[in-house]
Amino acid sequence: MDSPNLSQFGHKLTCESGILVLMDDMGKALSGDHPIKMLGGGNPAHIPEVNEALRTSMENIMEEEGAFEAMIGNYDPPQGNMKFIRSLANLLRETYGWNITEENIALAPGSQCASFSLMNMLAGDMQDGTRKKVLLPIAPEYIGYADQGMKEDMFVSCKPTIECPDEHTFKYHVDFEHLPVDDSIAAICVSRPTNPTGNVVTDEEVEHLSAIAKERGIPLILDNAYGAPFPQILFTDITPVWDDHIILLMSLSKVGLPSVRTGIVIASPEIIKALSGITAIAALSNGTIGPYLAEPLVRSGEIMRLSHDVIRPFYEERAKQATAWLHESMDQSLPYKLHLCEGAIFLWLWLEDLPITAQELYERLKARDVIVVPGHYFFPGLEEEWRHKHECIRINYALNFEDVQEGVQIIAEEVKKAYAEGNS
Ligand code: PLP
Repeated sequence: MDSPNLSQFGHKLTCESGILVLMDDMGKALSGDHPIKMLGGGNPAHIPEVNEALRTSMENIMEEEGAFEAMIGNYDPPQGNMKFIRSLANLLRETYGWNITEENIALAPGSQCASFSLMNMLAGDMQDGTRKKVLLPIAPEYIGYADQGMKEDMFVSCKPTIECPDEHTFKYHVDFEHLPVDDSIAAICVSRPTNPTGNVVTDEEVEHLSAIAKERGIPLILDNAYGAPFPQILFTDITPVWDDHIILLMSLSKVGLPSVRTGIVIASPEIIKALSGITAIAALSNGTIGPYLAEPLVRSGEIMRLSHDVIRPFYEERAKQATAWLHESMDQSLPYKLHLCEGAIFLWLWLEDLPITAQELYERLKARDVIVVPGHYFFPGLEEEWRHKHECIRINYALNFEDVQEGVQIIAEEVKKAYAEGNS
């Protein structure tokens, strides 16, 4: 059949974005006939104690009269499963003292889908004829936002300032002096902890961003996919915040349920109503399996215990070990730097003045069966040329741990070779 005659919407969503090409490339590498060290994707780890709790939850559903049939046989309202929403509102009220009721919570088929609805609901062509954008105050930022805007140039982002606590460690900060906030900004959005860098924007930075958003009457979206209260893949102590103008995105994915596609939005009743309307039109209803499995854990608070006592230590231990392996493997005389790993499931390696681009390094590593993600994909909204974009790679440390150990060794070898080429 000839290619269909697509609308602008169809074209925008189907034209080959860089990340689709990359995902395809990674998929092909994985389906080849030799083993690959997959340090590239975003899948969380399978943690036995978490899986055990979820298995028990499923067994209880199977045993309770009518529960399985209710789970698979009934549509939930577009806002989401009300029993789950009520239990979550209680948990957030009791844990943080937030003034949250069931009117402040909506579910979505994954937080990815929730952010797609939010970005396009808040920015783009406005009813008054103006065009508005979403400000990502720190680039690098989550790759998943990049192609979500239905209008071109829907994101604008800002280069961070860089703090270097020691020769081989760095941390990004929001550059408040150069933040491009003006009337064209409809919302501010930051992932915390950040995918791809493992950065956790500090409490002071959040306070400052929140004050800017409040003063301008726009929402601050905090993407909390790795944050507190669950899954708590967060290795630094922070104060979780919510307010009327804050939209908190959460997810069951990194708790260990990426396949059930349950995203959670905590926001003002007006935003929740609007999002529920979009769900009704685009998806009719949300999946029920995630809320059914997780609700007993939320109601009892067990999800907090699992997050704090099992999930967080599991990833923290791995992050520490992977960081140590990387530093041990790298030639210390090279100008490499690792971002402080304060959360999420990635190491972010900056290879300052590397004579080849991160894309070329990706190709060389792929030829040695190690898959990482080259950094330039993670700068949505940052149009200006910046060499740094091509000097970083993202490494998932959470999957097969032997692969991580061998993978970072190979990364160190290839990095050393590339720097040596620059000197020859
Ligand atoms: N936000 C961030 C920062 C992520 O890293 C991810 C997934 O990796 C998502 C959102 C989307 O997660 P999900 O749609 O599985 O809830």
